[in-house]
Amino acid sequence: MQDVVERLARAVPANVRDVCATLTAAGHQAVTVGGAVRDALLGRDPGDWDVATSAHPDEVLKLFRHTIPTGLQHGTVTVVTGKGAHTHVEVTTFRGEGAYTDARRPDHVVFGVPLIEDLARRDLVVNAMAYDPAKHEFIDPFGGREDMAARRLRAVGNAVERFTEDGLRVMRAVRFAAQLEFVLDPETEAGIGPALPSLAKVSRERVCEELRKILSTRQPSLGLSPAHRTQIIASILPAVHARLGDSMVVADWLGRIDRATHDVRLASLLEPICDVEDPYLYDQRTVTRVADILKELKFSNAEIELASQLTGVARAPRGDAWTPPQVRHLLARLGKHSRPHAALLWAADAQPNSALVGMAQQILAEKHPLAVGDLAITGGELMKALDMKPGPAVGRILALLLQRVLEDPSLNTRETLIADAQKLELELGR
Ligand code: ATP
Ligand code: MG
Repeated sequence: MQDVVERLARAVPANVRDVCATLTAAGHQAVTVGGAVRDALLGRDPGDWDVATSAHPDEVLKLFRHTIPTGLQHGTVTVVTGKGAHTHVEVTTFRGEGAYTDARRPDHVVFGVPLIEDLARRDLVVNAMAYDPAKHEFIDPFGGREDMAARRLRAVGNAVERFTEDGLRVMRAVRFAAQLEFVLDPETEAGIGPALPSLAKVSRERVCEELRKILSTRQPSLGLSPAHRTQIIASILPAVHARLGDSMVVADWLGRIDRATHDVRLASLLEPICDVEDPYLYDQRTVTRVADILKELKFSNAEIELASQLTGVARAPRGDAWTPPQVRHLLARLGKHSRPHAALLWAADAQPNSALVGMAQQILAEKHPLAVGDLAITGGELMKALDMKPGPAVGRILALLLQRVLEDPSLNTRETLIADAQKLELELGR
């Protein structure tokens, strides 16, 4: 126990300690709580230190010179202890919560409750520990220390009730499973299923944020596997869930996500949706479906563009007779930014198609022309050389030239392209 207190004493930054000291000197209780206490004890970077206090928000505002009334209705005041956002300390009044009728936020909060009640409203036992720097005391009413030792996540109190009150908590539970590399306690895991109707009421932005956090962990399967088992995936990504038939398919899906580099994780999450018949073709139907799904989940346009394009080519490794021209045609269908990522997604397969990956990497490294803009001739030069007027024919000819250059990049010289264009112009019968 002594070592826990010592570790916390060393970890608390001076400005946070000062904020607690000011509150304590005025006769209030002030403790650090939540994620930072947990992370400091786990040897993780604690990030932001949150302070919880018995002082009413009005008293907090009076006690400090520089404050920002961040969320007074929830009892949160930001104390500015220096220059820059990193000096801000969020101070929140101990609060209890009324009922949750909308599964997202309590109907009302009450101030003036004891610390233990404030800790009891928190989601997970490892998030419900506090440290009082003034008294040099570690407060752990629900057994957070044992849970950390057992690398276990338990809900505070009855899991079904806690998860049902606020549907986001089930996402947080699986997110922490991945982030902390902890396992959900069986009873807590069993509480997720009955609470899924609450998850459906949570804003997609918040669900998206949790998914992003899961995907950026070392091993996302540690969160996605329980998310799949408990039907969280069925709730938030029903189209993906529907494709995850037997356990082999699930294992393959999770393995690919874990192996994928960060930028292609979202594409690998959506990969089961891909239903191409011909692995040599860009599957526009898949791309559109994936884009629609990610849009509903409020991913950013850049994330949607990359992930949807990549899922459109996700099954390319199934083709066993790739030639460089075919690979160029496929890469040409992708946006410039997506192309290198396609090779990364393919490389994350359990048994990567090394011929395909190798060809793609070589084509990109050698900067083969893959778009009209890469041609050795511009539209203006083409019009001049062929004495053409602006119009759709110019674009058509450039597109046809690109098709030839994709077959054979050595054709990408000014002279060859002009000669080709002249022939094409005759064929097109201007
Ligand atoms: P991180 O900042 O790494 O996401 P955290 O545990 O600090 O993790 P925050 O969202 O910063 O998470 O919340 C701070 C604390 O507030 C948590 O540790 C937890 O005690 C409590 N908390 C946050 N969200 C909820 C919630 N939805 N239900 C119950 N308690 C919550
Ligand atoms: Mg935090």
